[in-house]
Amino acid sequence: MRIDVDRDQCEANGLCVNVAPDYFELDDDDELLVKQPEGAEADRARIVQAVASCPKVALALRD
Ligand code: SF4
Repeated sequence: MRIDVDRDQCEANGLCVNVAPDYFELDDDDELLVKQPEGAEADRARIVQAVASCPKVALALRD
C-alpha cells in the first residue's frame, strides 16, 4: 500500500510518529518524512492506526 501525506494539512505534531516510528519521522525542520512510502502488508494494522491517529486527516493509504 502507498502512504500519502497532505503537506498542507500536516502540522508536524508527531502523533503518527509515536504510533509507527519505523514509517514516520520528523526531520530537523519539523517536516514529516515517510521513511517507507510503500507500506508492508504485514504492518497494515499499525499503519492504519497511525493514519487514524492524525487529527488533521493528513495521511491516506492507497492500495
Ligand atoms: S499525525 Fe498528522 S499532523 Fe501529525 S505529524 Fe503525522 S501526518 Fe502530520
